[in-house]
Amino acid sequence: MSQQSTNQSTKDWQAADAAHFLHPFTDFKALAAKGSRIVTHGDNIYLRDSEGNRILDAMSGLWCVNVGYGRKELIEAATAQMTQLAFYNSFFQTTTPPAAELAKLLAEVTPPQFRHVFFSGSGSEGNDTVVRMVRRYWDLQGQPQRDVIISRQNAYHGSTMAGASLGGMSGMHAQGGLPIPGIVHIEQPFWFKLHRPGESRDAFGLRAAGWLETKILELGASKVAAFIGEPVQGAGGVIVPPATYWPEIQRICDKYGVLLVSDEVICGFGRTGRWFGCETFGYKPDLMTFAKGVTSGYVPLGGVMVGERVAKALIEQGGEFEHGYTYSGHPVACAVALANIRVLQKDKLVEHVHDDVGPYLAQCFAEIAEHPLVGEVQTCGLMGAVQLVKHKAKDGKPAVPFNEALGVGMICRGHCFGNGLIMRAVGDRMIVAPPLVITRAQIDEMVALIIRCLDLTLADTAKL
Ligand code: PMP
Repeated sequence: MSQQSTNQSTKDWQAADAAHFLHPFTDFKALAAKGSRIVTHGDNIYLRDSEGNRILDAMSGLWCVNVGYGRKELIEAATAQMTQLAFYNSFFQTTTPPAAELAKLLAEVTPPQFRHVFFSGSGSEGNDTVVRMVRRYWDLQGQPQRDVIISRQNAYHGSTMAGASLGGMSGMHAQGGLPIPGIVHIEQPFWFKLHRPGESRDAFGLRAAGWLETKILELGASKVAAFIGEPVQGAGGVIVPPATYWPEIQRICDKYGVLLVSDEVICGFGRTGRWFGCETFGYKPDLMTFAKGVTSGYVPLGGVMVGERVAKALIEQGGEFEHGYTYSGHPVACAVALANIRVLQKDKLVEHVHDDVGPYLAQCFAEIAEHPLVGEVQTCGLMGAVQLVKHKAKDGKPAVPFNEALGVGMICRGHCFGNGLIMRAVGDRMIVAPPLVITRAQIDEMVALIIRCLDLTLADTAKL
C-alpha cells in the first residue's frame, strides 16, 4: 500500500471517486454505481490495484508508457528539475535549459525536414496548434480562403473543440455542435470493413487514398489547407493501412500543394518500430503532432514538429504568432522527455521493436488469427488488433460480424480485466499496444492471456 494512503482503503477511494470525480469518456452514473478500479502501483509492464491484483498492462496506460513503469532515469530527472526550477514560462522572451535542449534533441530524432518545435501540454492542444498554424501559413501565403482541413472517419485527434472536430468520431461530434467549420472527413483505409469482394489490400489502399483526391476536387484545391491522419489509426481500432496508402496520399498532397500533417501522438517514439510512423510508412509530413510517448506519459507534454516549409513562412514573414499555452515548454516535462528519449536511445528500444519484439508479436498474432472467434489480426510494431467475428471468412465468403448490440468486444474486455490483462475493445476489435520494453517471454504471457480470454468469450457467445 502506498505511503500517502496508509489509512485509506479501496472503499474510501471508490466513495470519493464516485462522489466527486467526473471521468473522461465515462457514463458517470454507471461508474459510480459499480465503483472504479483503483490502480496504485506500476513496475515495468505490470500494474497493481488496491486489492493487490497484478495486471499486465497491454495498453501502456493510454498508449503512452513506452519505456515502462518505474524508470529511475525519468523519476530522477523530474526530481532534479523540480528542485532546481519547477516552472517558468516561455512567453516573455525567456526559455529554460530543458526546453532548449529538448527542442534540439527533437530536431535530431525526428525526420530531417523538422528543425523546429512548438510545445503544448497534450496531443489535443498539439492538434489545436496545427489548425491555427496551418491557417496562419495560408494567410501568410496570401490565400486566406485556403482554410479547409481534411481528416478521416474514425480518426482520433483529441477532445478539445478543434481536436474533436478533426477526429472522425460521430459520437463526439453529436455532443457540442461539432465539427467546427472548415473541417471535413473522408473514409478511413479500413480494408476489413470496406474492401470489395476479391480486392487486394494494395488495390484497396490506392482506392482509399483516392478518396482524398476526390474530396480535394469536390472542394476545389484552392480551398484545401491540409490533410491530417494518424499513420495507424489508434483509438479507432489499430487500423493498419495497406502499404500503398500513404505514398499515394503523399503524391496527392504534393500534386495539389496541400500540407500533410501526421498525427504521431500514438505512433511516435518507437511504437511502429521506427522513431515515427511516417518513417514506417514512407511519407514526409509538413507538420507532425506528438505527445504521449515523448515523456512515456510520466508527465504531460505534447507539441508539433514544424517542417521547413511552414517554419520558414512563420519565422520570416509571420511576425507574432498569437498562440501558446502556460505549459508550452514546461521545464519539468521537458527534463523528463530528455531522460525518456535518452532511455529509448541507450536501450535501443526502437530497434528492439523493429528487429525483435515487433516481428515476434506479428508471429504470435498470426497464431491468434486461427482462433474460431477471430476474423482478422493486424499488427504494426507493437500495436495489434484482433477482430472478433461470428463466422470466419470461408470458401470465398466474407467473414460475418456479430450484431454490434451484443457488445461482444465488451464481453471479451470483461474477461481480460478478470484475468489480469488490460486490453481495449473498440467495438468488436480488441487492441493492444504494450510498453516497448516488453520481452518475448512477456509477449508469450500476454498472448496466453489473450487466448484464454478469447476462449471464455467464445463460450459466452455460444449462449447469446
Ligand atoms: N491524437 C491521437 C492520435 C491520439 O491517440 C490522442 C489521444 N489518444 C490525441 C491526439 C489526443 O491526445 P491527448 O489526450 O493528450 O490530448
